[in-house]
Amino acid sequence: MQNECVDVLIIGAGPSGIVAAAYLNNQGHNVKVIEKSKFPRFVIGESLLPRCMDHFEEVGLLDCLKAEHFEVKSGARFLSKDVVCNFDFSQKHTPGWDWTWQVPRADFDNALATELINKGVDIIFEHEVTNVIFNPDGSSVTSVKNNIGDNFKIDAKFIIDSSGYGRVLPRLLGLDKPSSIPTHSSIFTHVKDVKRPEGKEGTLITFDVIDKDTWFWVIPFSNGITSIGFVGENSLFDSYEGNTTEVLNKMLKLSNYYHDRFCDLNYEFVPVHIKNYSKAVTKLCGKGFALTGNSAEFLDPVFSSGVTFATESGLKAAKLISKELQGVTVNWDTDYAGYIAEGVNVFASYVKEWYTGNLQTLFFHRPENLEVKKQICAVLAGYVWDKTNPFVKKHNRIIASMAHVISMQKEKTTK
Ligand code: FAD
Repeated sequence: MQNECVDVLIIGAGPSGIVAAAYLNNQGHNVKVIEKSKFPRFVIGESLLPRCMDHFEEVGLLDCLKAEHFEVKSGARFLSKDVVCNFDFSQKHTPGWDWTWQVPRADFDNALATELINKGVDIIFEHEVTNVIFNPDGSSVTSVKNNIGDNFKIDAKFIIDSSGYGRVLPRLLGLDKPSSIPTHSSIFTHVKDVKRPEGKEGTLITFDVIDKDTWFWVIPFSNGITSIGFVGENSLFDSYEGNTTEVLNKMLKLSNYYHDRFCDLNYEFVPVHIKNYSKAVTKLCGKGFALTGNSAEFLDPVFSSGVTFATESGLKAAKLISKELQGVTVNWDTDYAGYIAEGVNVFASYVKEWYTGNLQTLFFHRPENLEVKKQICAVLAGYVWDKTNPFVKKHNRIIASMAHVISMQKEKTTK
């Protein structure tokens, strides 16, 4: 049997693969997406950042999402005991989108994939990429297995690996490396939020900070379901006995603010426990391939950066591949790896400084410094490439220095 031949083969139909495929299709390239599961399928990653709206808009996928009437997210609330830190995306340093959505990913990803199919893109569900062989010129032959075990091959000029935690090329090419982010775990589920309060309190995304390493997320959806989950050090999870339902029941007692709202509700699915979710790779691209989204890197859920990084990298990779297909030379090291690393490094500083406690000091210090808050808010909205923002430009030292100043001030006043 003759191999099928495409310009670009994309592994995975999550947001990263879909945005990449949409761009390439709009540019007239022959693109095919191979997706292991049957949609709609559950995946975690339900709180978006305003920055990803730019990506969906640019590739023509915004209207299909608007039609789903997802819960609007116009900011985020962080609680620490009796102190509340509210970020409002309309009050941010960098110009750009000031809202996005809180989404059940099964519906969200399905809406995107359906729209792409309507635009004529070939998405093959329930097919798994099992192997990829690269030729010296960077073109490749990909082995695909369908759900009844039949195998076939696809020739491609380029591959975008958007396989998320499938991490197809990192596994096949040995590109995995340990993440620099501390080892944390998460446990989560969905509930029918029957005790949801009226108004903003009921629909606001909230992070209830239990202690420096432990926090609880509450992400209400427009369909009455709310996503709840804990993040903490592996050792905390290990200290609880029982199955995941029992562990989550016990952990809910940690949240004074939310315990009563959720404690006696049934879980919509058996709580999922993911250990050591942070991932990193030795390189983001090579001859004939690019890694995007979670397949490339995942830091931590605390700032909801996963989907936005997935769409940012998917779109960037697609643009560069499109250029190469048109005969333009691309410097992948600077234009892709360098660009992506810049944004990832900003978020990585924020995640690290969250767990050192320094960023929490800035969030919960009173009185608030409104200028600083605007600059941090732009980062939390996903605008991490804007060097006019000191909280982007000096990301690796500004948080620690400001936290230090706050501690010194506190020390002085208590003396
Ligand atoms: P995915 O959405 O995972 O899609 C990858 C697709 O590839 C899947 O559909 C899969 O079936 C397919 N695939 C896998 N292997 C193969 C194969 N061999 N062949 C073919 N197809 C394959 N992000 C946020 O933005 N906001 C959040 O609030 C958030 N919360 C999170 C909470 C936790 C606990 C964790 C662990 C992550 C969270 N994330 C969050 C991150 C988010 O889940 C991911 O960053 C995001 O889903 C990445 O999108 P993607 O397109 O790269 O991959």
